[in-house]
Amino acid sequence: MTEAAVEHVDILIIGAGPVGMTLHLALAAGGQKSLLLDRRPQQAQQTDPRALALSHGARELLEQINSWPTRAATPIETIHVSQKGGFGRTLIDRKEYDLPALGYVVRYRDLAGALASNLASDAVLAEAEILDITPDDDGVTVSLRHADQLRTIRTKLLVHAEGTPGDDPAVKVSDYDQHAVICEVTPTPGHNKRAWERFTPDGPLALLPLGDEYSIVFTLPPNKADAVMAMDDDAFTAALQQQFGQRMSFAKPGKRSRFPLFLRLRDTVVKGSQVWIGNTAQTLHPVSGQGFNLGIRDAWQLAEMLLENGVDRDPQGVPRWDGSLENYAASRRLDRQGSAFFTDRIVRTFSNDFGPLKLARGLGLLALDLCPPARHFVAKRMIWGARAWP
Ligand SMILES: Cc1cc2nc3c(=O)[nH]c(=O)nc-3n(C[C@H](O)[C@H](O)[C@H](O)COP(=O)(O)OP(=O)(O)OC[C@H]3O[C@@H](n4cnc5c(N)ncnc54)[C@H](O)[C@@H]3O)c2cc1C
Repeated sequence: MTEAAVEHVDILIIGAGPVGMTLHLALAAGGQKSLLLDRRPQQAQQTDPRALALSHGARELLEQINSWPTRAATPIETIHVSQKGGFGRTLIDRKEYDLPALGYVVRYRDLAGALASNLASDAVLAEAEILDITPDDDGVTVSLRHADQLRTIRTKLLVHAEGTPGDDPAVKVSDYDQHAVICEVTPTPGHNKRAWERFTPDGPLALLPLGDEYSIVFTLPPNKADAVMAMDDDAFTAALQQQFGQRMSFAKPGKRSRFPLFLRLRDTVVKGSQVWIGNTAQTLHPVSGQGFNLGIRDAWQLAEMLLENGVDRDPQGVPRWDGSLENYAASRRLDRQGSAFFTDRIVRTFSNDFGPLKLARGLGLLALDLCPPARHFVAKRMIWGARAWP
């Protein structure tokens, strides 16, 4: 194994997932270079089973970096929200907001593919193993192994975009005691571009229109998720039908995958010359599809702030980011905490069978339906994120 001389890059981004790639491309659009680094081969993202509901706001940002996967995106025109075994329901319709769609459903792999297709051939060090990260007053030194070489990279700014964090004292963890079982099913009749969010005592059940299929996010306690994962296809569609009701029938379920669900919230997203964005800054429950929509706003705002402040270089030509990082952290606080609070409250209020709460939920859904300002607030959160706040 050989060791090369120290390399210098202005901005090093760990994690070439959708959030890391968005940051890289947004910076490149403003003329700022950065280097992405990922531990997986780039094509590994093509096996990710998730489908993501993206907000209209996320589409607008992706379009600006030519990374909107037009043909792979299915528009959501209406969202139906209800609870199993209780009254009350609300319907959110794109026509009230004068938009082509409330949001879109895209496979993770198609989104990652659209972003990756815009990367220069030397933009990512794939299959890189980080050996050490040493921050100091003037930047960060990262040691890594790549293609059988030991490399040392010196950067003025290290951005962490490596997805859901493991154990880290800086990250508060709250276990939902729920797992998401996901798969695609064929509905009869067709979905008519309607998404469903159905609250059940076991957890929320989401049906997202995707091509001719529904992408299902079936949230369950871990022991029930074990049972659902082990079922044959007929038993699985019957279990889904039982949670959803008889309004439509489901057939041909695809391969199932599961994800344990936690809220992981990082206390501070800026420390010295390091910044945390996307899922590594906050990993949310998938209810109401906020995760990537929040992560792309992190990436966008960081890029804007770094580009706006300009690259102030010291006499050696090395860039300084003084001040912009603290402004970034302050500017993301409301969106991060608001989104975490919003999803956490929904999960905890709706995932139980407690009689008085069920009544209150029914009244809440009815009120949302009858009270346009309240409904508009929820709809705008889905469409724009933090811009929904007054
Ligand atoms: C079941 C489910 C459904 C979801 N539905 C939605 C939805 O409808 N809408 C929505 O907006 N969000 C949704 N999300 C959340 C969404 O998937 C995430 O918010 C999004 O993928 C985060 O992107 P990211 O780039 O931050 O992280 P990731 O997608 O996890 O990418 C991180 C990258 O970093 C790399 N990496 C990790 N560790 C290292 C390391 N040590 N060194 C180098 N590289 C590393 C990984 O290989 C990966 O390529 C859902 C999540 C789940 C689990």
